[in-house]
Parts: sequence; structure tokens; C-alpha cells
Amino acid sequence: MFLSDKRALVTGSTSGIGLAVARALAAEGAEVVLSGFGEPAEIESLCREMGARHVAADLTSAAGVEGLMDGAGPIDILVNNAGMQHVAPVEDFPPEKWDAILALNLSAAFHAARLAVPHMKAQGWGRIISTASAHSLAASPFKSAYVAAKHGLAGLTKVLALELAEHGVTANCISPGYVWTPLVENQIPDTMATRGMTREQVVNDVLLAKQPTKKFVQPEEVAALAVFLCREEAQNINGANYSIDGGWTAE
Ligand code: NAD
Repeated sequence: MFLSDKRALVTGSTSGIGLAVARALAAEGAEVVLSGFGEPAEIESLCREMGARHVAADLTSAAGVEGLMDGAGPIDILVNNAGMQHVAPVEDFPPEKWDAILALNLSAAFHAARLAVPHMKAQGWGRIISTASAHSLAASPFKSAYVAAKHGLAGLTKVLALELAEHGVTANCISPGYVWTPLVENQIPDTMATRGMTREQVVNDVLLAKQPTKKFVQPEEVAALAVFLCREEAQNINGANYSIDGGWTAE
């Protein structure tokens, strides 16, 4: 229980990867603050399970992130994980989807970091971990906003790493390939339409085709790396972008 004196905020932790990260940090004793949308009864049950608190906020605006950070209190471990996807050719990409994806997948991480950093610096310890993506390193067609936001998140992480290096605070990205979560499942219908494929073709010829292992990444694999990055042995891992993508970006 090496995190028993730490408070961790995981954005987008009512589902998928963020939920697995929250569970893994709670299992190491961290006081976890959950964030994200969902059925109130389900969120309450997650809070009970982890001894966590949930702070409701829409993170597509600076004010939403400010409300989250106010409700959460001083944070020792910040996990920027909330994200969304939209799949469409660039000429048909709805500008409001572009704005929302940039706001949630990139700007929310900036706002959360700028608000979390003063406490981390003052105490001389902190961890900022961002769930980026294989799409922070490589592109796929029809994902203009997502790829732009994730490349931006990887860049922001490098800046945070340099600015905070002498304050005991590290900033790193974890970049999964395809993880079977609602975010991936929900993009299948649009991908079917955009590429004229069946569901099975999308899974095998678009998603798993990217991953040499031919396996989806498990949320718990991302969570295990996030926990490791919180350890003292990881104090010199700073500004890194760790791929967990079955070899996708090795090509
Ligand atoms: P998910 O859809 O299961 O979870 C997304 C979370 O974000 C949920 O808790 C949701 O409530 C929250 N969220 C959505 N919109 C929000 C908003 N406006 N304000 C606040 N919270 C909001 O998705 P996931 O697959 O677990 O994705 C988590 C992160 O991992 C995202 O940043 C995603 O880009 C990244 N990622 C996912 C995959 C994948 O294959 N699933 C791969 C690489 C990176």
C-alpha cells in the first residue's frame, strides 16, 4: 500500500481505462477522486467499492475543470484520462466535434495540470500521467481531431516534464493501442459507414490489423504501468511516452 498518503484524481474514471487505473491506485491505498459521467447508482457503487469520492464535472470547458479541481482538493497524482473520439473524413468533420475533442482530450489536461502543479511543487512530489494513445505517435485516416489532440497531449507532457523536473514531479504519457472499451465500441458504426465495411471487417481489418499481437490491450495493463510510474523507482522516468500497443508503433 505504497500510496496510502496520496490523493489521486483520475479523469474519465467511470468507465474503461480510467476505471481500471482508479481501481489499481485505490488498491495501493490512494485516496481516489473519480470523475466522469454515468448512472448515479453505478457511480455510487464504484465510490463504495474503492472508498472513493466522485466529483461531477463536464471537462470540455476550463470552468468545468476548475470545478473538478475545487471539488477534489490538493492532488498528488493527476491522471489525465478523459477522452472522446469521432470518426469522419476531414471535409465532413463537424467543427463542434473538433472543438469538443480538442477541449476534452487536450485542453482539460492543461487546465488540470496548471491547477494541480502548485501543490505538487510546494510539497516536492507529484505525478502527472496522461493517457495519450498510439495516435499520439502515428496517424490513422478519419481521426483528425483525435490525432491532433493526442499529439498535442504528448507535447504538453514533455513541457511539463521539463518545467517540473527539479520539483520531484514527473509527467509521462501512456499510449495504448486499441483497448476494448465503450470508446472503441462506439466508433465501430461510423467506421463501418466511412469505410464501407462490416463490423467484423472493422474489428479485424482496421482495429486489430494495427496491432501485431492481434490482441486488444486490457485496461488493467495500462493501470499496472500507471501504478509503476507512481513508485519511487520511477522518479527518473520523466517526459516519456510509453507505448502499450502490441508493436503497432514499432513499424
Ligand atoms: P471510455 O469511453 O470507456 O471512458 C471515457 C471516460 O471519459 C468516461 O468516464 C466518460 O464519462 C468520461 N468523459 C467523457 N466525456 C467527458 C466530459 N465531457 N467530461 C468529463 N468526463 C468525460 O473510454 P476509454 O477507452 O477508457 O478511454 C480513456 C482514455 O484512453 C481516452 O483519453 C482515450 O482517448 C484513451 N485511449 C483509449 C484507447 C482505446 O482503444 N479504448 C486507446 C488509446 C487511448
